[in-house]
Parts: sequence; structure tokens; C-alpha cells
Amino acid sequence: MRQPLVAGNWKMNGSLDSVTSLIEGIKAGLGSVTTAEMVVCPPYVYIPGVAGLIGDAAISLGAQDVSDQESGAYTGEVAPGMLTDVGCKYAIVGHSERRSIYGESDEFTASKFAAARKAGLVPILCVGEQLEEREQGITEDVVARQLDAVINLEGVAALADAVIAYEPVWAIGTGKTATPQQAQDVHAFIRGKLAALDSSVADKVRILYGGSMNAGNAAELLAMADIDGGLIGGASLKPADFLAIGTAANS
Ligand code: PEP
Repeated sequence: MRQPLVAGNWKMNGSLDSVTSLIEGIKAGLGSVTTAEMVVCPPYVYIPGVAGLIGDAAISLGAQDVSDQESGAYTGEVAPGMLTDVGCKYAIVGHSERRSIYGESDEFTASKFAAARKAGLVPILCVGEQLEEREQGITEDVVARQLDAVINLEGVAALADAVIAYEPVWAIGTGKTATPQQAQDVHAFIRGKLAALDSSVADKVRILYGGSMNAGNAAELLAMADIDGGLIGGASLKPADFLAIGTAANS
């Protein structure tokens, strides 16, 4: 049985005041979430403060990105060991905004995945196609290529304890959501691809859906067999909506 995971990607949003009220709001309603693991991924600078605000509440911490290097002359980067130092359990790698705005390749994403694991972080590997790629009918090729970069570097077993987030790029921040069946089809493809290499990895890995998941559409997405949770952008900035998604994962 895979524990559902609902992760909030706050992106470059917030202030000291707003992250404080966001965490207080989530903590106040956490009792309604019985099954899912709830994760927040604040901007780097707020992570230590958010760790303090979380205290012993059942909210895990993640980072939105991580360096592929351990330490040294990499101005502006944040090492995986620094993230574990301040209480992070997870690190997102290969978010589509990193890939498209900052030109991060499949191979670079795979090296971040490897560095995160080496430091004891659980990587959340984002994969997903652009709208034109879906229209060309190459969604599975794109997702397979993105997964293969990690499998080639780290081996399929590395994915067993990791998290994969399927995020169709055309659904991120657009208000357009993949239908439950569209999402399930890609999730089943991902699990099937892994199962062809190692069925125990395929059974274990959690595959999240991301792309305009919200309080209104979460239940039907989370009801699909291969959708094990959500990576949430906009709706994770509102405690009531984020909690409603967590509650939709109750079993
Ligand atoms: C994301 O950025 O990972 C995301 C899914 O954003 P949104 O929920 O806003 O589409």
C-alpha cells in the first residue's frame, strides 16, 4: 500500500508574514487529513523558519530545487547536505520551470536526483510533456526520455524510494487540468515502464499528479489507480484548499 503524498510547491511566493500564516492555517486543519503525508516546499530562505513553525506537527519539509554538487565554488547554489541540515526530507528536481526557464536538461536533472539521494533526501522527480508534444502524440516518448536519464545514471532501483511527479506542462499554473483518465494513462505508462525493469520498484514508487490540482478536482484525480497524490502549486498557498486536497486523499 503506497501512502498518498500531497506536496505544496510554493514557488517564489511569500513573505515572513504570509508563510507564518500559511503554516499556522495548515496546522490548524491538519486533523482532517488522516492518510496522506503533507509536505511543504517553501523558497530556500524560509525553510529554517518554516521548520521552526512546523515544530512537531505532521508536515514534512521539502526544497523546490537542489544543487548537483556537494560543496564548493558554486555561487548561488544550495547543496543537498544543507537541505538535510535544516530539516528537509524531500527535494523537487526537474520541475518544468527549471527545465524551460533555466534550461536544465534531462542529464542535469538526473545528476541533481543522484546528489539528492546521496545526501539522504527523497527526490521528487518531475516529468511531463509540453502542449505541442501532446498534440504530436509523443507524450510517452518525452516522459520515457526524462525517466531514462535517471535510470541510466542511477539504476531503476533508485526510483523505489523516490517520488515521481507527472506534470503535463500545459496544465501547470494554467487552470487547465488533465482529465483523470488522461493523467491515469500516463501514470500507468510510467508504472508499466518501471515494472518492465523491476516490478517491486513499480509497486513501491509513488507517482503524483501535478497541474492545476485543486480542492474541486482532487478527489476524482486521486481516485485513479496509479495516482498516489499531488504536487500542488497555486492551491498550496491557501490553507483551506491545500487541506481539502489532503483530505481528498483520505482512505
Ligand atoms: C507545480 O508548479 O508543480 C504545479 C502543479 O502548479 P499548479 O498547481 O499551480 O498548476
